[in-house]
Amino acid sequence: MPIYEYKCGKCKRIVEVLQKTDDPAPKCHGVMKRLMSKNSFVLKGSGWFASSPKKKKPKPSTDKKPSTGKKV
Ligand SMILES: [Zn+2]
Repeated sequence: MPIYEYKCGKCKRIVEVLQKTDDPAPKCHGVMKRLMSKNSFVLKGSGWFASSPKKKKPKPSTDKKPSTGKKV
């Protein structure tokens, strides 16, 4: 999930929110405007990726089906 930065139109406070793309903006005093920051995926906590589960390798097909793929 990407981190978005929102800026309050009234108090100019910038809030970082971890949310989906189509999630609604957080609420402050006024309208929160999403900042288009390119570094929105900066990881502040180190080892974030390291703690994420690795992708499991697909199981090797153990069922022995006879290869009947004789398509010409
Ligand atoms: Zn505000």
